[in-house]
This record gives sequence, C-alpha cells and structure tokens, in this order.
Amino acid sequence: MTATQLFIDGTWVDPVAGETRDNLNPATGEMITTVAAGAPADVDLAVQAARRTFDEGPWGPSSDPRDRARILHKAAELIRRDRELLAKLETHDAGKLYSDALEDVDEVAFVFDYYAGWATKTSGSIPPVAPDTMSLVVKEPVGVAGLITPWNFPIMMAGQKAAPALASGCTVVLKPASYTPMTALELARILREAGLPDGAFNVVTGPGATLGNAIVTHPGVDKISFTGSTEVGVQITKQAADTMKRVTMELGGKSPNIVFADADLSRAYEMSAFGVFFNQGECCTAGTRVLVEQSIYDEAISAMVEHAAAVRLGDGMNEATTMGPMISSSHRATVERYIDIGKDSGARLAFEGDLPAEPALEGGYFVPPMIFADVDNQMTIAREEIFGPVMAVIPFADEDEAIRISNDSPYGLAAAVWTRNLNQAIRVSRAVRAGTVWINDSQPAPSEAPFGGFKQSGQGRELGASGIDSYLEEKHIMINLEG
Ligand code: NAP
Ligand code: MG
Repeated sequence: MTATQLFIDGTWVDPVAGETRDNLNPATGEMITTVAAGAPADVDLAVQAARRTFDEGPWGPSSDPRDRARILHKAAELIRRDRELLAKLETHDAGKLYSDALEDVDEVAFVFDYYAGWATKTSGSIPPVAPDTMSLVVKEPVGVAGLITPWNFPIMMAGQKAAPALASGCTVVLKPASYTPMTALELARILREAGLPDGAFNVVTGPGATLGNAIVTHPGVDKISFTGSTEVGVQITKQAADTMKRVTMELGGKSPNIVFADADLSRAYEMSAFGVFFNQGECCTAGTRVLVEQSIYDEAISAMVEHAAAVRLGDGMNEATTMGPMISSSHRATVERYIDIGKDSGARLAFEGDLPAEPALEGGYFVPPMIFADVDNQMTIAREEIFGPVMAVIPFADEDEAIRISNDSPYGLAAAVWTRNLNQAIRVSRAVRAGTVWINDSQPAPSEAPFGGFKQSGQGRELGASGIDSYLEEKHIMINLEG
C-alpha cells in the first residue's frame, strides 16, 4: 500500500523526512491506508509556495475576481460529480453515516458556489470626507491563510474554510486532522482539475503538535482559521499573537436545548435526542444539556429514552445504521471516562444502549447512547464537552431558571428553544448567550448564515457574509484633490 502524499505548489510530493502514519477505519479498527506524516520542513515549503502565489500571482490581490469565481464554480461542479466517492471516503475515514456524508459533500459543493458568487461582490465604500479630499475603502485578501480542521466534519470544515479563503484571493495551507485526512487531499485534486493555479491551495498532513504548530508560528502565514478543541484554540491564539496573525476560532460547546411544556412535544423529544446523538455526538453544536420544564419532566425522559433505544450502532456504510463509532480508541476512552464520572456524580442513568453485535465490528470504537437524568448544571457532565452520545437532562421551573442555567457555562456556541409561544421563543433566544439559537429545531447550520461562538466557544464568525470578510483586510486610500 502506498502512502498518500502532500499537495504542495500544485504537485503531489512525499514529506521531506518520509514519515507515515496508519489511517484506520473507526468502525472496524482496520487500516484503510497509510498517510504522509509531514513535519515543519514540509510546512515551510507549502508556505513558500502559497506566499509566492499570493505576492507574485497568479492568485492573490492581482487575480481577476471573475477568474476566481469561475474556478470555484467549476470546483463545485466537480465535487457534485464525485459526491459518492467523496462521501464513501469520508465514511471510511471518520465513521459517520454515509447518508450524512453525502449531505456534507452536497453542502461543500454549495459553499463553493456560494463563495464563487461573493468573489465579485466584496465591494468597498467611499465615505464622505472633506470636499478637497476623497477616501476610497477597498477590500484586499489578508494573505496566506493557514486552515486547521478537525475530524468530526472533515470535508465540510475544509470546504467551508477553503471556499471563502480562495474566493477572497487568499492562498491556502490546509492541515486536516490526522484521523481524517482523505477528503482534504481529494479537495486538492478537485481544485487542481478545476483550474486553480499551482501554489494557491496546499495540503499538508501530519501531527498537530509539530506540523500544525509550524503553520501557527510561521512568519509567512497571515491568518489562522481553526476548528477544534478550546484548549488547542487558546494555545494557537496565544502563539499567533507573536506574529499578529488574524485568527478565527471555532471551538467547543455545551449547548442547552430548552423544552417548554407548550412545545410540539413529540417533535421536541425526537429532535432533542437527535441533537445529542447526531454524528454520534461528535458535534460542537450538540445540544447535550437538555433542559426540560418540570411539568413534563418524566414524560420527556421516557420519550427520549425511546428514541435512544431505537438507535442502531454500526458501520456508517450499512443503511440500517443510525449511529457510527467514535473517531478513535483514545477518544472512546475519553468518552467512557466521562460516562464513569456521570455514574459517580449522583445523576441517574436513565438509559444505556447496547454495543453492536456483529463480529466484524468488534475492533470498532463504539460507545452506545447514554442518557443521564436529574443532572445538576454544576456536575462535570453538564460543564465539560464530552463529544460523544451522552445526554444530560436538567429540570427547570420557569423561563428565568432555564435562561440562567443555559448561560451558566463557559461555552456559548449554540442553543435550541422548543415552544409554541412566540414571545417566549424570542425572549429566550435573545437572552441566551450563544452564536446560534434554533427555535423549534436543532443542528442545521446553513452556509449562508454566520456561524461561531460567544464566550469560550470561539472568536470571529465563519460562513455567510462574515465568512468572506474574515479573509479580507480593509485598505483606506486617501486622495488629496487640492492643486
Ligand atoms: P484538537 O486537538 O483541537 O485538534 C483539531 C485540529 O488541530 C487537528 O487538525 C489537530 O491535528 C490540530 N492541532 C492539534 N494541536 C495543535 C497545535 N498545537 N497546533 C496546531 N494545530 C494543532 O481536537 P482533537 O484532539 O481532535 O479533539 C479533542 C476534543 O476537541 C474533542 O473531544 C472535542 O471536545 C473537541 N473538538 C471540537 C471540535 C469542534 O468542531 N469544535 C472538533 C473536534 C474536536 P491532529 O489531528 O494532527 O492532532
Ligand atoms: Mg481516519
């Protein structure tokens, strides 16, 4: 089996030191391929290529926005052409459901079309100034963008960062998570076929602590867009400050999902369970703190237990599967540790699912769905991001208490509110400090709207109009009209 390579300056190359790492299918523990494990020397080559392509062209501020739009539209078309291949790779790499992977790929095709449109629409402004002067405010790409992505939505995170970065005229060095490098490499193949010039998009694979760190500290990189843990995000933000890199941080969450007694309850219970168990709980916006109004507390738990009991663990390629494995054995161990903490905390274990029975999946990293009831918001399982299928149900007496519990968290990524009372829905949406609030829904994050976190869930916004602005600098050109 030959190892995957790095994509630098439009060419597939082996890492300088020739190291590799095994890439395993998390549903079976079997090896799917070996992957190049690059080092800082490889980052340097990728940054040099990206830097040159930005500073001297043909990408960067001197490129024609129409060319950028055309190439990104073409990439969208090629992603649609290859959607099944990409989704299959994603399922093998990340363990997610094939049907979900197809949706992710479709969203990535969309996001390339969406930001292709923006390439020709990043207008500046002409503010009114003194009569003998004129001010032009123009927007220019920020430079070389270092994109560092996680393993839970590999192609989606890569696409949602790469599309606005390239549309703005930035050049890119992308580092995918070590567990899930495959679809980022495919994106490089597709962008080259779409006509993207050499050096505009580079992909380096290798360990975050060394190769990822080299992107963060490299003086040739102007901006870091990172999605992952809050712990690493804080470290990157500190290090990026040494060279005053711009940073966009999409970090962890412990999102409240508030169910009021007057909601459409059958849908609220079903979607509250979905909000925790979707993507096996490996979701930064997961609604893991399920807040339930006292009067419906017992029925809510029974209903959500029924939904959890209907979950079928298995290989994401199997159509009957409704939940895949954890990404790795070490992440499974982390989630299991939290489950033990929950069992010792005084919370009531209301449901514990079964592991898959198939012998072929014995080597997979499965954790069954878990529901803890009678959780106190101060317990570890209500405060820390578990990133697995573990629900914490917390009762509340009234709207004020629901808001207070929701906001009593270091995180502020997302929240869901279930009610038929319009005024209450709006009041609670405004009062909860989170970057996304769903009313009578959970989890959708369309690429047209901004996405990001309050508090320790991040900094800046991706997607929507904010997404392209985060790759642009404003420049003020002032003309003296006297004489
Ligand atoms: P992580 O360590 O934050 O990794 C995210 C990305 O950052 C990966 O590409 C990783 O590379 C890279 N990285 C790690 N250390 C780095 C460093 N010092 N400098 C530059 N890049 C670095 O996340 P994880 O270990 O995969 O997951 C741990 C926890 O993070 C999860 O349990 C979950 O709570 C949270 N998480 C959140 C999200 C989200 O969407 N917000 C996504 C994933 C995980 P390697 O893969 O090579 O380590
Ligand atoms: Mg993998």
